[in-house]
Amino acid sequence: MSETVLELNGIRKRFDSVLALAGVDFRCERGSVHALLGENGAGKSTLMQVVAGLYAPDAGTMRLDGETVVWRSPEEARRAGIAMVHQHFMLVPTMTIAENVALARGDRGVFRASQLGKDVARLASERRLDIGDPGRVVGELSVGEQQRVEILKALVAPTRVLILDEPTAVLTPDEVHELFVLLRDLAAAGTAIVIVTHKLAEALSLADHLTVLRQGRVVGGGPRREFDAASLAALMVDAPAGAEARRGVAAATNDVGTAPVVALDHVSANDVRGVRVLDDVSLRVRAGQVVVVAGVEGNGQTELVEVLAGVAPSSLRGLRGSVAIAGRAIRSPAQARSAGLAVVPPDRQRDGIVGPLELWENLLLAEDELRAASRHGWLSREREISRAVARLRAYGVRPANPTLPVAALSGGNQQRVVLARELGRSRLRCVVAANPTRGLDLAATAAVHERLRGLAAAGAAIAVLSTDLDEVAALAGDVHVLYRGRLLGPLPPSATRLEIGRAMAGLGAAA
Ligand code: ADP
Ligand code: MG
Repeated sequence: MSETVLELNGIRKRFDSVLALAGVDFRCERGSVHALLGENGAGKSTLMQVVAGLYAPDAGTMRLDGETVVWRSPEEARRAGIAMVHQHFMLVPTMTIAENVALARGDRGVFRASQLGKDVARLASERRLDIGDPGRVVGELSVGEQQRVEILKALVAPTRVLILDEPTAVLTPDEVHELFVLLRDLAAAGTAIVIVTHKLAEALSLADHLTVLRQGRVVGGGPRREFDAASLAALMVDAPAGAEARRGVAAATNDVGTAPVVALDHVSANDVRGVRVLDDVSLRVRAGQVVVVAGVEGNGQTELVEVLAGVAPSSLRGLRGSVAIAGRAIRSPAQARSAGLAVVPPDRQRDGIVGPLELWENLLLAEDELRAASRHGWLSREREISRAVARLRAYGVRPANPTLPVAALSGGNQQRVVLARELGRSRLRCVVAANPTRGLDLAATAAVHERLRGLAAAGAAIAVLSTDLDEVAALAGDVHVLYRGRLLGPLPPSATRLEIGRAMAGLGAAA
């Protein structure tokens, strides 16, 4: 018999201009695993953060074991039996496993190491979690071990609902398998599990129930047996099975006569875990061509952009292969820049902007922009500020106040600043852009796509990495798919959205 533990009705949540949740109904049952699926930005994390008391919903009701609940804090949700393992671990790396668990339990003051170690070891065995010696320092554990510590932390108190947000993103395939065994065990012991994921195959192999969110709405759901990979992919990407043929690809984009501006040859690399993140990737982008690399995040996009930009990140091992821009081998970011590369990085907070610097200064961050702006090594602040105003206006940055620190802007406006700097560069020969329109509204998104197509028409080589099928379709270029570090394609121009979506989910390239 199924017993509903958690029931949500009409949950709404708005962040400024974004309606993250537009009235969501959701329920999950004791002893079952529920997968919450959806593309990036669908509202999965927000919904679960509402459940865990991190956000108050603007509207809607929540019931736990039939009783209406309203959380005033995450602690209150935790006391009621809701535990959440977040996408980013929240462990103190210099402390031991036992001390981290003690903190989660609310212990205060000095820990008596030997007693604490015994307590935590007992707790771990009761929860059937293999954490090894609890006296080990967390910073020295593997990612999979750290995740088990996070789960143990989540389970220190009695738990009715355990939520895991994208728990497999950082794990090796073996660790994923171990996690799934653990989650099945916990479910068998009566806990309701909600796992947030955008990986179809994982959801289908693990879950008893599935719910698919798209743009803050539930677009489908039900017991596992009602779904297969194709129907789920169709739901996630909003394309009925057998959907329309894809837009025509501009014929000029395939002109093989011109030498490629971007030439990536047989690039492979592993990450620190030894997992292959780029697997023999070769890609050519010619002048005037738009190439789209579609893929779900975490399949090598970040690494591909870094390699193209000449960054040899310390996170990559055994990097092989070659990168050339305009015929010149690229071995550093400075070389990539001077060869005319503009980069819109996937993580703009980390790589795209410098928060405390003012907007006009952020616009000059690309090295050669600085060189172009300076006269004998001097910059005219007044001149740069007035130039900045025009550029900020052209890209719709609000407020277009060049002397504000960029950190004061909303995410979407920070993205506009990055775009204004990169796409407005003077000697631009190619653009590598990862999710260039993330966080932008429809009008701004259309303007950016228009700008990218315009740059291509003017002779630049454009490569856009995107997790968003609407963007893939809108850009009307050759489409490749990056899945687990392998680059598939180009897909035939007749490939439908559904086929592209299936390839993104690892269900094989379009037939
Ligand atoms: P998912 O987890 O499915 O990828 P999220 O729940 O993180 O999606 O986000 C849903 C939407 O809400 C996105 O458009 C996102 O940009 C927006 N959003 C999420 N959190 C915030 C926030 N704290 N402030 C502003 N917008 C947010
Ligand atoms: Mg999320």
